[in-house]
Amino acid sequence: MIKIYSPSKGEKEMADWIENWLRERNIPFQSDHAGEAYGGNGRNIVAFVKGNTKERPLGFAAHMDQIEPCRNVNPVINGNIISTDKTTTLGGDDKAGISAIMEAVEDIIESGVPHRDIYLVFTCSEEISMMGTKHMDMSMLPCKELVVVDATGGAETLAYKAPAMEAIEITFKGKKAHAGIEPEKGINAIGPCPADSVFHIGKSGKFDAILSLYHDQGHIACKTLDFEKSVTLTFGLPFIRSSVDHGTAFDIAGKGIAGCISLIESTKVVAEYAAKQHEKKEN
Ligand SMILES: [Zn+2]
Repeated sequence: MIKIYSPSKGEKEMADWIENWLRERNIPFQSDHAGEAYGGNGRNIVAFVKGNTKERPLGFAAHMDQIEPCRNVNPVINGNIISTDKTTTLGGDDKAGISAIMEAVEDIIESGVPHRDIYLVFTCSEEISMMGTKHMDMSMLPCKELVVVDATGGAETLAYKAPAMEAIEITFKGKKAHAGIEPEKGINAIGPCPADSVFHIGKSGKFDAILSLYHDQGHIACKTLDFEKSVTLTFGLPFIRSSVDHGTAFDIAGKGIAGCISLIESTKVVAEYAAKQHEKKEN
């Protein structure tokens, strides 16, 4: 298995090999066409090992793809340790997971121990932002609990949460309007604007608003500019909602030393917007 060339987007051979392994053991499986969605030739495979207890079904997952360079892997076997000849990656991530699942399943079948329904999940293109699972046909996998055999630490370690990253690409478009007849209907979109100067430029009054992609990106700038007078305004609600821009400050609660400027400012904002809304309704 370790010699199979299985880079992200190119897991076809590995998927064929796994399906063969399942066929040889009469383990039923399904696969999808996930790779087609992102220019790969791989697919996700879900196999099913029927259980004989009433416990909830459980799944075990591992990914087929590995980091390049992984063509012509030449495994060097030294006792219990398999390594490479240092010209390629080994692909232990995650072929070690695949082999652990396969070994466990063989053991369960051979020993005849009672077990719950088991799903085996082999995914493609995990190393490139989980493209395989993102495009997986989830109807293949009815079980709700899944152990992903792809983490550091020993077999006794089970991670139930981990940091994740989501890359978002957003394009903002302006809205044209006739400069002489209805200029107020136009919306300016200026950019791209460098992240390190956008707030500086904004301070000059060039923009109506700056959209930060996460909380503190905007907050650091706001609080540096005016800690006490910056306020929070929530959009998209059927009513006007404003609040102070600072946190709970539990450390000074009840001591009679908290300032009230932010509270006054946020109330002023509500008053200002309410008046504008009223004006709009009147017109
Ligand atoms: Zn991995």
